This record gives sequence, structure tokens and C-alpha cells, in this order.
Amino acid sequence: MGNKIYLDSAAMSKPLPCAVEEYNLVLNEYFGNPSSAHEYGQRAWEELENARRRIARYMDCGKEEVIFVSTATEAAKLAINSCNFPNTGFTCGELEHHSVSENIPISDSDNVKTKVICQMIVNNETGNILKIPDRSKYDVWICDATAAVGHIPVSFKELGCDYLFADGVKFGSVPGGAFLIVKGTLPIVPVFLGGGQEYGARAGTENLPAICAMAKALEWQKENMTANLLHVRNMWLTMFDTLSAEIPDCQFNGVDNLATANINPYILNVSFPGVEGSALALMLSRKGIMVSTGAACTTGDNAPSHVLMEMYNDEERARSAIRISFSHDNTLEEVDYVAKTIAECVKDLIGASVR
Ligand code: PMP
Repeated sequence: MGNKIYLDSAAMSKPLPCAVEEYNLVLNEYFGNPSSAHEYGQRAWEELENARRRIARYMDCGKEEVIFVSTATEAAKLAINSCNFPNTGFTCGELEHHSVSENIPISDSDNVKTKVICQMIVNNETGNILKIPDRSKYDVWICDATAAVGHIPVSFKELGCDYLFADGVKFGSVPGGAFLIVKGTLPIVPVFLGGGQEYGARAGTENLPAICAMAKALEWQKENMTANLLHVRNMWLTMFDTLSAEIPDCQFNGVDNLATANINPYILNVSFPGVEGSALALMLSRKGIMVSTGAACTTGDNAPSHVLMEMYNDEERARSAIRISFSHDNTLEEVDYVAKTIAECVKDLIGASVR
């Protein structure tokens, strides 16, 4: 990849070498179907259950509470489906990802007996760590922890949510492995029917290599979390300081007060008044710097970010935003170079628009 600089890890993290190694090992050595009765099948099944145990240990939940799926979107749909009984009312936080908001059923608001709240803990566009919902108002909490797991400590037990999900692609694993945790006593209503995999919760052959790679990535993240957070926070602050100095009217989204902002420092979101965020991201890409304008899944969609619109109700601010998302293996030198290149591009784009 030469001297390109990747700052879009919130869309897809670069796989950790240890996760790729585990993926290849499992793919080559444990290729039996975990549902097969023969020795190879049994070996694969043991690896699968071991991965479940490893993930449960990391997430602070019971092994039997972990269900493997393929993406966070699938996990969201499975969690929502599992709560979708008559007389259930769903509330969706305004900052939720579309994988949640677009899967919420319309409920009969006149006759609600069970109240479900879908609310994430870290917003994937701004990095804001959100307040947990008022549990006295809701019976069930479905928590999207996709932008938190692997970056900041997350304990299923301490959070007190009922369903929680995350996706390996956001924390250094490979695509195709994600998980949903379901509190022991709660129902699971499968979306896919067919085989009895995942204890009947999710039919379809498990993607064992991706699942084991995800367990490995989580273990690596846990071992290195303190050092990584220190380094990433340093990069976040360097980017913040350099951009503030170079472009004084830039607006840091979700950081109205630096002293009190509660942020996952892997994500920084900033608007440059007078500049189209998508034009800036394209210009940076041509210079070998990868950032995004928000959630990757909405790229190509012309609407301004629903998250920034909800937070600021300011279309200009929302359209002029870019999201910079770090990885532990970015360097301070890269951040310094990128901040200065962003400043040059912003000045060029503003110059071009007034010429
Ligand atoms: N929730 C959040 C917070 C996300 O950032 C994403 C991915 N952008 C998703 C859900 C959906 O993830 P996936 O594409 O893996 O289904």
C-alpha cells in the first residue's frame, strides 16, 4: 500500500496480524463442519465453543449467552426480532445506526405493555460515549456496542443491557464474524430458519475462521487496551490541536467542551465551514489519505448525516464534516502530516469556491 495513510478504521479496521494468523490456521486445520459428527466436525465444534468461551470472558457474560452471526446488522435484526411480541413498543435513539433504526417494527402505541429501547453506547460518527438509558422507563435495552468493543472497556454485566452486539471488522478482525449477547433469561426468536446451529438461534453453517479470528482480536485488544488508548488519545489531541490552530473556525462535532467531552478517541469528527466534506475526503484520497464523511454504509447517499443533523440541526455543518478514525498502528507523524494536509486542502477548497 506504499505510503498511504489509513484513517477510516471505524468503517473497517485493518486486520491484526494475530487475527489473520488465527483465521488461516482455523481455515486450514479445522475445516470440518462444527455440526458434523465425525472427528473433524467435533474438532471444529470444540474450536467454536472455545471461541464462545473466549468472547464471553472478554465481554463479561455467560458462554451460553453468546450467539455468533455474520454482521452487526444481522445481530441488530436478530435482537429486535427477539423482542417483537404483541404489545411491545420500540423506542429508537436518534443517533442510532441505520442497521438498527431501519429494522425497528412499527408498534401499536395504544396498547404497549413491554417497552424496548434501542440505544448505542458509542456513536460511530462522532465517537461520543452516550449516557445509558433510564432503565426505570424501559423493560428491555438493545445495545449497539459496535463502535465501543475492542476500543474502550465494555462489560455486559456492568452495563446492565439485555441484548448487546458488536462486529469483528471494527476491532481488528476479518469480515464475517460478529456476535450478539442475549441475557440468559430472555427469548431468542431466529430470523433464519433451517439447521439447528447456534443452539437454534441462528441457522446456517458458522463462519468458524472468522469467529476464531474475532476471539483472537478481542484478546489482543484486551492485552493492549491501556497502551493503545494512551497512544490513540494522543493522536486525537494532536489532530484536534493542529486543526484548531490551522483552521480556527473548524467545528469539532460532539466536542462542545473539550474538558467535559466523553469521547472514544478512536473517532474524531470535524466540520470545515465553506467546504463540502465529500469533496475534501476525495481530495485527501487522491493524496493517499483515507478518511470518510461518516458511516461508510451511507456513502453515495446524498443526505447529510442524520447524526449531525440531530445534534446540531445545521445542514451546512453536517455537509462539511469528515470523520477521521484511528487505529493503534497510526503514528503521531502521520497525524501531524494529515492535519497539515487537511488544512492545505481546506484552504484550497475555500479559495476555489470564492474565486
Ligand atoms: N452499528 C454501528 C455503530 C456501526 O458503526 C455499524 C457499521 N458502520 C453497524 C452497526 C453495522 O455494521 P455491519 O455493517 O457490520 O452490519
